[in-house]
Amino acid sequence: MHIRALRVHEEYPLFLLLLADPSQEIVESYIRRGQCFVAERTSLIVGVYVLIDTRPQTVELVNVKETAMSEQATTTAAQTARATGPGKPAQRRSKGHAEGLMTAHLLGIYERLFTHYGDRRWWPADTPEEVIIGAILVQNVAWKNVETAIARLREKGWLSLCALRETAIEEVEECIVSTLYYRMKARKLQAFAAMVETEFAGDVGLMLALPADELRARLLAVWGVGPETADDIILYAANQPSFVIDAYTRRIFSRLGLTDDKATYDELRAFFMRHLTADVALYNQYHALIDALGHSLCLKKRPRCRECPLRALCRSAEYQEADPRPK
Ligand code: SF4
Repeated sequence: MHIRALRVHEEYPLFLLLLADPSQEIVESYIRRGQCFVAERTSLIVGVYVLIDTRPQTVELVNVKETAMSEQATTTAAQTARATGPGKPAQRRSKGHAEGLMTAHLLGIYERLFTHYGDRRWWPADTPEEVIIGAILVQNVAWKNVETAIARLREKGWLSLCALRETAIEEVEECIVSTLYYRMKARKLQAFAAMVETEFAGDVGLMLALPADELRARLLAVWGVGPETADDIILYAANQPSFVIDAYTRRIFSRLGLTDDKATYDELRAFFMRHLTADVALYNQYHALIDALGHSLCLKKRPRCRECPLRALCRSAEYQEADPRPK
């Protein structure tokens, strides 16, 4: 079988493999081993886009010699990649291919997760202020710890920024003990409430109506609000598009082979926002689905890959299953 490969993106290890007259079995083995997208099949040639890394199970693909792309292959790829238009410079067109494929791949992951988990109906809150309070309380703890705290605050009638600002800090602490770092979090809640009072005359709606970039900058300037909390508030309280990154996102997408596990928060957020349309409903559901997977199957130690809806796309699946030691 004759194989040629072309690296089509300088940022991602994305190759177009041209497989001359391969059997179905061979094509499927490539699809299993890499993050692959069948680009085109004719009687003579199959074009497969592959994300390749240097893990042992994919090393045979790395050994494929990089060659120039033939005019035929260029045409094939151009027909396949939606983001490409005629007459663009070759390098730009290749980058467009990769960007379009990555978008398609991320949407494919979304579809698999949605089919598996369904509508997550996230964030579970009655008001934007409840979202904000929950976003601060959930820092470094599981959501079930927050539920207890929210229920206690609701019982007391303190589930608003105004009430939290006017309540003695010891009483706030007592309600949110279940969220672990409760002393610190009580101070964060009161600092946030004070900011809304000082800068927006206590009108949280006024704050949430700021354009997303401006709102993000204002939120990040508040003591106790980091990027994840800020993006939770923008997406789930302000209903504006800002992709939320958390530990589950980092773990799952690095295991899938799409992101670097050492990437910064802002790099990961930029990756998703570059490839996914700025759509509040999509970002809302995608983040919730990622959390469902991270919570139920893609566990830190011993992920349950055999039950995972992303198993066929995941380059870590076999590795994780073959080696039962904690990762
Ligand atoms: S196949 Fe395994 S490692 Fe990959 S995303 Fe699923 S649970 Fe995580």
